[in-house]
Amino acid sequence: MTKIAFIGLGNMGLGMAANLAKAGHEVKALDISKDAIAKAAEAGCEAAKNTQDAVSGADVVVTMLPAGAHVKLVYAGEDGVFSHAKADTLFIDCSTIDVASAREVISHAENQGFAMIDAPVSGGVGGAAAGTLTFMCGGTEAAYNRAKPYLEIMGKNIFHAGDAGNGQVAKICNNMLLGIHMIGTCEAFNLAEKLGLDAQTFYDISSTASGQNWSMTSYCPAPGPVPSAPSNNEYAAGFAAGMMLKDLRLAQEAATAARAATPLGAQSEQIYTLMEAADKDGLDFSAVMKLINGSL
Ligand code: NAD
Repeated sequence: MTKIAFIGLGNMGLGMAANLAKAGHEVKALDISKDAIAKAAEAGCEAAKNTQDAVSGADVVVTMLPAGAHVKLVYAGEDGVFSHAKADTLFIDCSTIDVASAREVISHAENQGFAMIDAPVSGGVGGAAAGTLTFMCGGTEAAYNRAKPYLEIMGKNIFHAGDAGNGQVAKICNNMLLGIHMIGTCEAFNLAEKLGLDAQTFYDISSTASGQNWSMTSYCPAPGPVPSAPSNNEYAAGFAAGMMLKDLRLAQEAATAARAATPLGAQSEQIYTLMEAADKDGLDFSAVMKLINGSL
């Protein structure tokens, strides 16, 4: 049994913390929302009073927070995790944040002698509850190996992507590609229909031809061909357009800093910004189909 502090018990963190507790670890749960802490307590965690209470006896600290600013504040802020953790504590940040902040916080941790990895996830709220997340990790081999047994409780596929921040790099590059091929798939289905080719027939042909891609065959944005896709459920999320936009913005920030050309990534970010401007970013990200076909 390991003493674990879990900070950030929102849509994702609650299920992840519950799975660590279910596996027999002693999990102290902390959030700025009292309601979130109460839910974690119901799910088998112990409610922490504050950062010191959560962290001072912990062997491992896991965080699942909204953005880079929250991660910096929680770890390095006044009265933060760094000021209360014991010397050999392992930190695992599972939040999706900008690459620069991830590298900065890990470097700060390492300068103080702590081990830390970035370990953003894919798999959504369902995957967090079921313990089937994919983890993309960045950090030293030694820190990754220490973290792995805990990640295996919360997830199914665990990857070491390289040095600090590389988990975030893998996540934003994957999701930028996902955004691009989702939009491309919507354009193709819309054009096919406008030219008199129905969605099912186009699907049958293209899904076995060179246009085949995940957005088409697992998550088809045109209603019909893939029954489990959100397009058959009025585009209820799923993976919300707003979450895709967050990841596309992180990708653009990183691309600018790295001076990498991402013309289609930039376009994708703008297209999902239109979803946000239309107040439709709560819909599934495949609802960009409705933007393209004029039914949004
Ligand atoms: P959420 O907003 O539901 O949860 C975040 C939690 O952090 C909230 O409960 C909030 O109160 C808490 N929090 C904020 N500041 C805090 C602080 N200073 N101290 C303690 N707690 C604090 O978000 P979520 O959907 O759980 O997502 C968390 C992270 O996971 C994000 O980075 C997101 O991009 C990523 N992610 C989400 C999904 C998804 O489908 N929801 C999928 C993959 C990755």
